[in-house]
Amino acid sequence: MGNERDHDVVVVGGGPTGTGVAVFTARYGFDTAVYDRGNAALARAAYVENYPGFPGGIDTETLTALFHDHLDEVGATLRPDVVDAVERDDEGFRVTPAEGEPVTAQCVVAAAWYDASYLDPLDEDGEMFEVHEHHGEDREQLDRDVPDADGRTHIDGLYVAAPTDSRNAQVAIATGHGAHVARTLLEDHRRDEGLAGEVAPHYDWLRPESEFSGDWGDRERWREWFDNEMGETDLPDDEVATLRERYIDRAFETELSPEEIAARRDRGHRRLVEHLGTDAVLDAIRDEEIQAYLDENSGIGQ
Ligand SMILES: Cc1cc2nc3c(=O)[nH]c(=O)nc-3n(C[C@H](O)[C@H](O)[C@H](O)COP(=O)(O)OP(=O)(O)OC[C@H]3O[C@@H](n4cnc5c(N)ncnc54)[C@H](O)[C@@H]3O)c2cc1C
Repeated sequence: MGNERDHDVVVVGGGPTGTGVAVFTARYGFDTAVYDRGNAALARAAYVENYPGFPGGIDTETLTALFHDHLDEVGATLRPDVVDAVERDDEGFRVTPAEGEPVTAQCVVAAAWYDASYLDPLDEDGEMFEVHEHHGEDREQLDRDVPDADGRTHIDGLYVAAPTDSRNAQVAIATGHGAHVARTLLEDHRRDEGLAGEVAPHYDWLRPESEFSGDWGDRERWREWFDNEMGETDLPDDEVATLRERYIDRAFETELSPEEIAARRDRGHRRLVEHLGTDAVLDAIRDEEIQAYLDENSGIGQ
């Protein structure tokens, strides 16, 4: 974000919600740190059978390892430490963990479903928390109205992806909501930079060469499209031109050739296999080989 902060974004919580946030902010190019330790919902699940893409279900240890590997892949810094306090400072926030040194951040995203007490120092008017009854006990919790549906709060630079009223209740929704709140943060940043209209939201897409064929291979066509989508603006022409060219550069960087797609597919498969363990991989190969042998020699074993 271009100022003298330790991190552009600190995410508190590296479960499904926080991973959803950090993958998007780090891939955008924001220096992102994720703090992750303490009370966790995912670790309490016996087994997860409803996270799309895992037809046989997935155990929580492997899913957590995949999430954390993904953070590593996108260049986010994972710190296994509990955040005790988030305070305001002159330009953003100061984040104090239990064990490590305090760090500064431009933005903070709350993403710990069970605990928001570390936000207490930000509660200057005593209005961010409310008492609610949980199994007959009075507990203080973050007022569910603190974030809006997109995760924005009344404090500039503070976003809340968890806890929410219902968006953290299932793994599939939690990861998606984290990603949505990250897109809110990115859109706010892009609007601060001067982007407006339909070019302000960020789409983290990779595109095949066919998307850049014909007119769309020509920057002039993109310029026309950008001006139309951006709409009216008070910015001087030279600033609009800089934003426009940067936008188009970024769009062209999303293009993947068939060779690049194939290389990424091979690498992606390998990355998945690394999480399965040798026995599981060998078992699957053996099963496949035995099945192929039986198919070829039908009659055997029937
Ligand atoms: C018994 C049980 C079974 C479940 N089964 C399923 C299921 O089968 N399918 C399904 O879709 N969902 C299931 N869920 C719900 C699922 O666990 C949640 O939807 C999901 O974990 C929410 O993700 P989250 O990231 O918001 O919260 P969490 O999973 O709680 O992750 C938050 C992370 O933040 C960390 N943290 C907390 N406080 C701090 C702090 N102050 N500083 C730094 N880090 C912090 C925690 O260690 C944790 O890793 C189950 C939940 C429970 C309790």
